[in-house]
Amino acid sequence: MPEGDTIFRTARSLSRALAGKPITGFHSVFPTLTRFHDETPLTGQLVDSVDARGKWMLIHFSGGLTLATHMLMNGSWHIYRPGERWQKPRFYMRIVLENANYLAVGFKVPVAEMHTAQSLARDRRIPQPDTDVLSAQFDAEEAVGRVVARAGEAIGDVLLDQKVVAGVGNVFKSEICFVTGVHPFAPVASLAPAQIHAIVAAAQKLVAANVLEDSGNLIVTYRGLQRRTTHASDPRESLWVYGRHGEPCRRCGEPVRRRLQGADARVTFWCPRCQLMPGDVDVDG
Ligand SMILES: [Zn+2]
Repeated sequence: MPEGDTIFRTARSLSRALAGKPITGFHSVFPTLTRFHDETPLTGQLVDSVDARGKWMLIHFSGGLTLATHMLMNGSWHIYRPGERWQKPRFYMRIVLENANYLAVGFKVPVAEMHTAQSLARDRRIPQPDTDVLSAQFDAEEAVGRVVARAGEAIGDVLLDQKVVAGVGNVFKSEICFVTGVHPFAPVASLAPAQIHAIVAAAQKLVAANVLEDSGNLIVTYRGLQRRTTHASDPRESLWVYGRHGEPCRRCGEPVRRRLQGADARVTFWCPRCQLMPGDVDVDG
């Protein structure tokens, strides 16, 4: 599943390839989009900007409309030069936006909608900029409040809710809990206010750190991303706990544990010695 940093990088690449240039071609397999394009052609319009909100990619056009695509599990946007060989089969193509220099191809994008500024602001599925950890408008205090409001839920589940903090995916969820010493199955109500502040700060810091490393002007979308939360330069030591079931904790040596969590049964990793359950609740039965 793409996390906030991946979508943010893709948004930046799309922005570099598309922003400020007129659209010369538009194709889609979504009937609602093609019908829309027939009535209000996107060709000739400029792309104003591209931004990422949680798992949503928003492409804003000069005519005032926004193409919102959700990446869900398998969606991705690639950028190609005209004539360049695509990295995915053509039958996965859902949307193509063309300008004189590039093609932006949306593969297996499951959700694509055209929005006005009003419908975008009203749509409760699309995070507002102040909830996205990578947005300059992110408000940490408000995010703490949204976490606190979910008192009865486990912090690991709450961190994945894009309406609470957009941009945190399943890898960062485990890593954020580790660096703050919080057990991912701990109910929010059992956490001290300082811990919740630390969790929100860590979410912002870890996700942002994975974006800042990519500071070049290259337009890249499909290269493998080495996500990193530790300070190790060895790529095999790039994460604290995620994907490390049974391996020794990098801090204390205790074997890292793994368990499915929440209604969506997302895999969660933690160190049973570094991340204590408040009140000694034994979740391992
Ligand atoms: Zn440990």
